[in-house]
Amino acid sequence: MSTPDNIFPVFDQLLQRKDKEELLQQKAKVVWMTGLSGSGKTTIAKVVERKLHDNGFVTQLLDGDNIRAGIGNNLTFAADDRKENIRRISEVSKLFLNCGIVCINSFVSPTNEIRQQILDIIGKENVLMVYINTPLEECEKRDVKGLYAKARKGEIPNFTGISAPFDVPNDPYLDVPTVGKSVEESADIILETLLPLITFEGEK
Ligand code: ADP
Repeated sequence: MSTPDNIFPVFDQLLQRKDKEELLQQKAKVVWMTGLSGSGKTTIAKVVERKLHDNGFVTQLLDGDNIRAGIGNNLTFAADDRKENIRRISEVSKLFLNCGIVCINSFVSPTNEIRQQILDIIGKENVLMVYINTPLEECEKRDVKGLYAKARKGEIPNFTGISAPFDVPNDPYLDVPTVGKSVEESADIILETLLPLITFEGEK
C-alpha cells in the first residue's frame, strides 16, 4: 500500500522565524559592531554576549576568528574580497536571524557602502548597527596586536585607517565612544538600546 504524498501536509511548511522566536521567547536581531581595528568591538561584543546569555537569551557571536578561519578563509583584505567577506557574513547572519537568535557581529566594515550592503542583505529593520567610536590615535596607542606598527612600516597592505579608508558611519546607528569608559559601561549602553528590541512580549 502506498502512502499518499499529502498525508502530513503540515510538514510541507517550513517553520518560520516567529515559530523559533516563540520557542526561544526572544526576538531575533543582528547587532553589528563597526569600528577601527583595536577599537574594542570584540572585547565589548563578548561582554554584551555574556550579559545576554546570563539573562536567558540565545546568542551567536561572529568575528574575525570564527569567520576568517572558516567560511572566509580564501579571502584577502583587498576591496573586492572585503565585500565578499561581508556578503558571506551577512548571509550567515540572516540564517541565525531566521532561527530566532541574537547574532552579535564584530567586523571593521569600514565604509558606508559596505554598511549599506549589510543592511540591504539582512534588512535594515533587523540590524542594530553600533559604531564603536574610538579615534585612530587611541587604537594606534593601544595597538594590542602590534598591527598598527606593522601597517605603518608597510608590512600590512590595505590596513584600515592607515592604507585603506574608514568612513565615519552616516546611517542611523548607535554611537558608542569608548575613550574614558570601561568595557562594561560601553556594553551597558548597547544593552540599554538592544534589550527592548529583543524582549518577547514583556518576558525575560
Ligand atoms: P577590535 O575587535 O575592535 O579589533 P579588540 O576588542 O580586539 O578590538 O581590542 C581592543 C583592545 O583595547 C582590547 O585589548 C581592550 O582590552 C582594549 N581596551 C582598552 N580600553 C578599552 C575601552 N575603553 N573599550 C574597549 N576596549 C578597550
